[in-house]
Amino acid sequence: MKTLSDLAKRNSVWRFFEMICATPHPSGHEEKLAQRLAQEAEGEGLQVRRDAFGNLRIDRKAAPGFEKAPCIIFQAHLDMVPQKAPGSDFDFLNDPLKVQITEDRIHCGGETTLGADDGSGVALALDILTDRELRCGALAALLTREEEIGLNGARELPAEFLEGDFLINLDSGCDDCFYAGCAGGVENYGIFTPEYIQTPSGTGVKIEVTGLEGGHSGADIHLKRGNAHKFMAGLLEILGENISVASFKGGSVVNAISRESEVTGVLKIALDDAQRAADLYAKKLRSTFNAAPDFGFLVRAAATPPQVWSRKFQKEFVAMLTSLPDGVFKFSEELNSVETSCNIGVIAETEDGRIKVGCHPRSFDDAQWEAVSDSNKSHFEKFGGEFIAEGPYPGWKFKSDSRLLEAGQKACEKIYGKRLPVRAIHAGLEPGIFTPAAPQLEMLSFAPMDHHCHTTEEYLEISSMEKVSYWLRELVKGLHS
Ligand SMILES: [Zn+2]
Repeated sequence: MKTLSDLAKRNSVWRFFEMICATPHPSGHEEKLAQRLAQEAEGEGLQVRRDAFGNLRIDRKAAPGFEKAPCIIFQAHLDMVPQKAPGSDFDFLNDPLKVQITEDRIHCGGETTLGADDGSGVALALDILTDRELRCGALAALLTREEEIGLNGARELPAEFLEGDFLINLDSGCDDCFYAGCAGGVENYGIFTPEYIQTPSGTGVKIEVTGLEGGHSGADIHLKRGNAHKFMAGLLEILGENISVASFKGGSVVNAISRESEVTGVLKIALDDAQRAADLYAKKLRSTFNAAPDFGFLVRAAATPPQVWSRKFQKEFVAMLTSLPDGVFKFSEELNSVETSCNIGVIAETEDGRIKVGCHPRSFDDAQWEAVSDSNKSHFEKFGGEFIAEGPYPGWKFKSDSRLLEAGQKACEKIYGKRLPVRAIHAGLEPGIFTPAAPQLEMLSFAPMDHHCHTTEEYLEISSMEKVSYWLRELVKGLHS
């Protein structure tokens, strides 16, 4: 059976990939790998720096005659997602990965993740920095910690680690397009204080939205799968004074599309009549949304609540939700991606008995998500709510006149014989976090094909990894000639 050492005989990038696979490096435990790579780089005469968080920057000086060439940073993250198959006793803190090679694929036999996300990027960066045959200007590798658990290393990075002219992010897992933008955003919350009245006579009821698919509030928002809270608010509007609401809740995070929504209260009409109205409304929704086939409302008898919302509060809260914008606001044809969106992700009762409605605006353009956040603030306040904005993070705005993108395309023409489509990700990526501290940096994201990452089925394409290693050299030659 072939091994990584066999592959290393034809391309030195595999020597580094082998070293990475042999050194445990799950998120939060990157130190062994960082030290191993630092040692290797120092052995090659490169300059190594660590910041207080443990991020790593390695610099290679310009060769004589190339002192004026722009500095190119190759960026990847040190950590991997540790997933293993049920029953496996694999120890991510101590065991080397059990790498296997089948034809063009490197994998861990279905037992664990391979961590080519982002071990492939780390290997590519180290390999090019230590390539003695390459004569060029200044190069650097920027290797971050804890990307997979909240982009933490990127957030903690000191500005001097971002000194340079161009940055290649090696973490897109994809070699059939360039990524040249990502979304920023903020969490918005509206906090409402219900007025309660004595429970009127009627039947205790619980209504649930069932069968929706949910999904990632960035990557899946354009699929129009339907938002459980919006659907529930629509049903309450139809039921009007036939229901007195006592509670409304569902979901746990703002960055997941709501798939669950639950209301309790008291019905003035029969349960069957309410179910019929709900079924009719669900049918209508199915024709306007791509809701899953088993989507519906479940109306059931439940305990009578001790108190319910006042008519006025219920009417206002329902009107607030039905008119709160949700979904795709703007689509970019140029990048074939959602540009601006907002997702209602969570409705929950706070510890002091108030109702918290959470949503998540995103956009490549910071001015756009800020505008959505401002309009959410006015919306919540108009309906008597208190507004909170939390955890803002910047986006990476696409620049169509990027020199780096043009050089990347030229290198592609040489290696692949074609130019590639350019896209943006409607979710957070490390380059978005770098933008405010390093507005001078031009950035581009490109990487070898890594399939099913974050699962035990993950595999890296050998030929793709080698092609990207050639592409990087062509890019350097193009930018430093
Ligand atoms: Zn990654």
